[in-house]
Order: sequence, then structure tokens, then C-alpha cells
Amino acid sequence: MELEGKVSLVTGASRGIGKAIALKLAGLGCKVAVNYVAIEAGNKADSDSVVQVIKHQGGEAMAIEADIRNSEEVRSMVEQIIGVWGKIDILVNNAGITRDNLLLRMSEEAWDDVIATNLRGAYLCTKFTLRSMIRQKSGRIISIASIAGVMGNVGQTNYAASKAGVIAFTKSVAREVGSRNITANAVAPGFIKTKMTEGLPDEIKKNILSMVSLRRFGEPEDVAELVAFLASDKAGYITGQVICIDGGVSM
Ligand code: NAP
Repeated sequence: MELEGKVSLVTGASRGIGKAIALKLAGLGCKVAVNYVAIEAGNKADSDSVVQVIKHQGGEAMAIEADIRNSEEVRSMVEQIIGVWGKIDILVNNAGITRDNLLLRMSEEAWDDVIATNLRGAYLCTKFTLRSMIRQKSGRIISIASIAGVMGNVGQTNYAASKAGVIAFTKSVAREVGSRNITANAVAPGFIKTKMTEGLPDEIKKNILSMVSLRRFGEPEDVAELVAFLASDKAGYITGQVICIDGGVSM
């Protein structure tokens, strides 16, 4: 139980990559706050079921509703976790959205939504969690970026810019808090099988697959393994890095 006694907050953990991360951390003995946002009906049920699975396996978890775009909701979420478990050792900035379109057709709303969720959300969650980490002179901040933030992508100017922002944010946080024994790293997945990608047309999926050396799409669990490593003591000397997990994408 590598993460026994640790407390984590995973944003957007009701499904997809966040859910896989929550289950993996819990399996290593970590207490997990499973964040979700009740924008769509059913999301509360999803996060409740993640909590139930963790509890069924003997772990500790709580579901917490908070829209990560909203400062007051994030502040209150962090206070609730610290109120119950006393601290937050591991923050996983996972929640994210896409609103794809070619730049000339991209609405200001689609631009603002994506930046607010993916970049402002990571800023707010990190800011409010950091105080607890600084107090205990240890912590792990792991933010889910994307290879789109490293290499760019057609139809994703908003998303790629938000993820490039997350990468630069991570590198800067790593510099600011390294002296407090807190690490900050970004994980940049390629194409992972989740609700976010399931709706893409087959033609696009075929094109993406032809660029992946391993000739398969990733599973949420592939990403969760890397996050668990970065959260562990074994990764204590890694900070300010962007680690791609994309099956070997070449363009
Ligand atoms: P997903 O299946 O669509 O899940 C996204 C999660 O984010 C959901 O749990 C959703 O919560 C949550 N979320 C969205 N807006 C939120 C908000 N304002 N406040 C709190 N939670 C919010 O997506 P995914 O594929 O697992 O993606 C997870 C992360 O990996 C994202 O940051 C994404 O950009 C990144 N990523 C994914 C891929 C991929 O191929 N799938 C590739 C690279 C990077 P609700 O269910 O409550 O709405």
C-alpha cells in the first residue's frame, strides 16, 4: 500500500481518466475525494458509484460536487476535504472539456469555456490546495494536459492553448514550491478511450491511429498508472516535467 495514509483530490473523477485515477490511488491505500460537477443529470450517480466501488474494496472516499471554474466552490471543496481528513497530499487536476471547431468558426463562448475549465480550473484547485501542502512541507500536484498542448491540433486552438497553459503553469508552480518539497508535473495523454473521444468520426479515429506507433488507443488505466507513479515517493525527484503517454505519436 504505497499511498497508505495519503489524501488525494481528483477533479472530474466521475468517469473516464479521472475515475481510473481515483480507483488506482484508492487501490494503493490513498483516501480519495472524487470531484464531480452536476451540469448533466447522472453525474452525481456516476461519482457516487466510484465512491461505492472504492468503499467496497476497503478504501476511503467521498464524492464532492464543485464546479472547478468557480472560486467559491473550489475553496469550499478544499475546506471540506481538510475538515474531514486534515490535509491534501495529492492533487490531480484532471477535469477538462473540449469544444472543438476550426478557428474561423470558433465562438468566443467555446474559447472561454475551455480556458475557464481546463486552465482557470487547474489554477483555482492548485491555489486553494497549496496552502495545506506548504504547511506540511510535502505534496504532489499532477495536472492532466494533452499532446495537443505540446504539438497543437487542427480544430482545437482553444483546447491546445489551454493545455499548453497547463504545462507552463505546472513548470512555474514547480519552480515556486520546489523548496517546500512539493512536486508539480504534467501528464500529456494522446488518444485515450473515454466519453471525450468516443464521439469522433471513424475517419478521424483511423487517421489518429495511423500516427500511433503502438497501433492502439490508450486506456484510462494507462494514464492512471503514470499518475500513481508520480504521486508516489518513488517520483520524489521529478518535478516541472511533461510526460507524454500517447503510444508513440509521430506526425
Ligand atoms: P471525460 O470522460 O469527458 O471526463 C471529464 C471529467 O471532467 C468528467 O468527470 C467531468 O465531470 C469533469 N468536468 C468537466 N467540467 C468540469 C467542471 N467545470 N468542474 C468539475 N469537473 C468537471 O474526459 P476524459 O477523457 O476522462 O478527460 C480527462 C482529462 O484528460 C481532461 O483534462 C482531458 O482534457 C484530458 N485528456 C483526455 C484525452 C483523451 O483522449 N480522452 C487526451 C488528452 C488529455 P462530470 O462528469 O461531472 O461532468
